[in-house]
Amino acid sequence: MTFDFSGKHAIVTGASRGIGEAIVRQLDRGGARVALVARSGDRLEAIASELANDPLVVVADLSTNESIDQISSAVLDAFGGVDVLVNNAAVERNQPASKVTGAAIDETLFVNLRQAFMLSSAFAKPLFSTSGAIVNISSVASTGAGGTQGAYAASKGGLDTLTKNLANEWASKGVRVNGVAPGLIDTEMWEPTFEALGEEEVRSTFVRNVPLARWGTADEIANVACFLASQQASYVTGQTIRVDGGMTNI
Ligand code: NAP
Repeated sequence: MTFDFSGKHAIVTGASRGIGEAIVRQLDRGGARVALVARSGDRLEAIASELANDPLVVVADLSTNESIDQISSAVLDAFGGVDVLVNNAAVERNQPASKVTGAAIDETLFVNLRQAFMLSSAFAKPLFSTSGAIVNISSVASTGAGGTQGAYAASKGGLDTLTKNLANEWASKGVRVNGVAPGLIDTEMWEPTFEALGEEEVRSTFVRNVPLARWGTADEIANVACFLASQQASYVTGQTIRVDGGMTNI
């Protein structure tokens, strides 16, 4: 799917693979100049080399405080302004609540929630200037129903609340803030679970909860994220749209 992003500048965190990579490629196809943010520089460079609109690679670790200033100065120096911010980077540490570590909770809340808030704040003024849009990539886990995902679920529940709050706070500035909550999407995020429980077992068992009876693709999330970032969604704000094959209907 292609929306028109001609002349726009976008930032995507977690751009080195999976859903972030798919969003980057769609934004680029729509004409945006995109800043790709993640830790894996080689992967970012490889993706950037295939893009059409003079992308910017920013190698940054969102688990550090300094990353926010690093990303905002690199992007604003290169682009001068920003129209779209996609907060997509996340970590998922699947631990039973009885064994969870403070370090895992801290890292999960920090990367998935705190840094999405801090980046939104860092780009607030540029986004006010362009009447821009933020898209936060949440999860169906935000309902808390998944089990053994307490920190991750809490981070995504917090992100959904942040989406609504920023949408209300910044509506008068012309900035729209929305989210996408993916269900089962076939990306590398699942590799630790495949390794722990067996890939075939996980693929066939988990899909039983999906009325559309299949795993989704990263492009199916990017379609909705790019719609929300585009002018086609000009009257949509404060919403987190579930893209989960009907999983949360049952
Ligand atoms: P993924 O393949 O694991 O990709 C995660 C991305 O986040 C990578 O680009 C990774 O890049 C980046 N990242 C992680 N920690 C980082 C850090 N400290 N600093 C900078 N970047 C960091 O996951 P995905 O499936 O594409 O997930 C993308 C989003 O969708 C996430 O918000 C996730 O919670 C959400 N989601 C996914 C699913 C699913 O089934 N796949 C379901 C629900 C929600 P580097 O490792 O290169 O830094």
